[in-house]
Amino acid sequence: MKEAVVVFSAPFLRKAYADFLRRQGFDVSECADVGSAAGAVAGKVLVCEHSSEVDAGELVGEAACAVVGAAPERAQDVAALKEAGAFDVFIGTLAPGQIVEAVNTYLDGVEGTPKANKVLSRDALSSFVAALMERRAVYAPVDGRDGHRFEKVADPSSVRVTYTSTVLPVKKVFAPVIETLLKFNRVEDSAEAEQPEVEPKVLLGVHPCDMQGVLRLDWAFTERNPESNYVNRRRDTLFIGVTCTPDEYCFCQNLGTWNTREGYDAFMVDLGDRWLVEILTDEGMRLLDGLSMLSDADEEALRKARVVRRDLSSPPLPVTFHPATTDALMEMSEDDKTWVDVANRCFSCGTCTLVCPTCYCFDVEDEVDITLSAGERVRKWDSCQLQSFAKVATGENFREEREGRVRHRLYRKYLFLPERYGDVFCVGCGRCGRYCTADIHTYDIVAKLAERHSATLTDVVGARE
Ligand code: SF4
Ligand code: SF4
Repeated sequence: MKEAVVVFSAPFLRKAYADFLRRQGFDVSECADVGSAAGAVAGKVLVCEHSSEVDAGELVGEAACAVVGAAPERAQDVAALKEAGAFDVFIGTLAPGQIVEAVNTYLDGVEGTPKANKVLSRDALSSFVAALMERRAVYAPVDGRDGHRFEKVADPSSVRVTYTSTVLPVKKVFAPVIETLLKFNRVEDSAEAEQPEVEPKVLLGVHPCDMQGVLRLDWAFTERNPESNYVNRRRDTLFIGVTCTPDEYCFCQNLGTWNTREGYDAFMVDLGDRWLVEILTDEGMRLLDGLSMLSDADEEALRKARVVRRDLSSPPLPVTFHPATTDALMEMSEDDKTWVDVANRCFSCGTCTLVCPTCYCFDVEDEVDITLSAGERVRKWDSCQLQSFAKVATGENFREEREGRVRHRLYRKYLFLPERYGDVFCVGCGRCGRYCTADIHTYDIVAKLAERHSATLTDVVGARE
C-alpha cells in the first residue's frame, strides 16, 4: 500500500486532500501540526501546508515526495525551499491536479514506469501513424468542418495530435451515436441480433480527461450486467495519449484529471519540435517495437518533458472547488436559486450531455418499415436535458421543469454516480460549456455554489469522519 501523510491545520483542507489521496489508493495519515507528523513521514508522500501554523521545512527532508502549499506571506520561504530541491511541487491553492502530478512523479521513480522512453520528431508523425495502421486500426483526431473529431484514420497525413478538444469524445468509438441492436420480421416471426464490428485498434492522441472518461464508461457499461456491444468494441483497444493544450473552458485541474497516465499504453509529451513517447505497458512495448521513426530518448528530452509538465500545471481557470467536496456541496444546494438562474438561460437542447465523455444515457426504439411487417430496434444517445426524457407511458413526467433537469445533470456528475463509482463523473473537459449555445458552463455553476456555501461546506466536510 502506498502511504501518504497530510499535514494541514484546517480540518476542511486536511480532509479534502486526504480523501483525494485515498481515492488514488493511498493509505493516508492526517496530522494537524508538525509535532504529530514528525517521524511519521519518512519515505512517504507528504502533502503539507507552509504557514504560521505548520512549518513545512521541518518535514520535507524526510519525505519521499513532498507537495507543499504556502500561505502568501510564506511564499518566499517556499521559493527558497524549492530552489534547494527540498520538495517536488508547490501548490498555491487547493489544486488536486498538482497532487496527482507529484504522486505520479513519485510512483514513476518507485515503480520504474515508463518501461521505455522514446522520441518522435514532428515531421515523422505521418510515418508513425502509417506504421501503426499496419499493425492495428487507428482512430485519431483529424480536422473537421466544426473542429477536430475522432475518426478511423484512412489517410495518415490527416492526423492532428496537437489540439484542445474534439467535438464528440472518444465514447462514440465504443457506443455509437446510433446503432442497430437487432432486425425483426413480424411475418416470419424472426429476430436477429446485429453483431458490432470487433477489431484490434489503437486510439491515438487521447487527452487525459478523455481517457478518464473512458475509464468511467468502462465501469458504467460493465458493473452488474455488462453491455456486450460496448464490451466487444472496447476489447483489444490500446491507447496512446498526448499532452493537452487546455483553453479557458478546461477545468481538469480542479478534478485531478489533467496529467494522469491511468489507462494508457503509451503517452506522448509534446516538446515542441518532437514528442517524448513514454511507453507504459507490455502491450505498448509490443505495439511500438521496432518502429524505425522512434529513437531512444536523451537526457534533454526527459528534462524538457519535466518542464512541460510543470508548465501545464498552471490551470486556465482558478481552482475553486475540489472533487472530494462536491457531493456535500450538491446535497446542501438542492434548493439553491442557482438552478432557477441557469434554467432561465438553458434551451434544453441536450448538447451538453451529448458532447460529454461520461454521459451514457440512451433510448431504444423499434423502427418499423412502411409495410409494418419488418423493422429494426435501434439505440440512440439520449439526454436528460430533453423534456421528454423522464416522461413515462402513463403520461407523467418526473422532471418536467427545466430547473429540475439542470440540477439533475449536475447531481448525476457530482453526487449520485460518485456515491456508486467512488469519484466524480465529470472529468473537466469543458465541452459542455464550450458548445453550449447559452454559454452555460459547469465550472461556473459548481464554483458559484462552492462560493455561496463555502462556510457551511467547511463545517460539513470538516465534521465528516
Ligand atoms: S447545452 Fe446549454 S442550453 Fe443546451 S441543454 Fe445544456 S445547458 Fe441547456
Ligand atoms: S460535465 Fe462538462 S466538463 Fe464535465 S465531463 Fe461532461 S462535458 Fe466535460
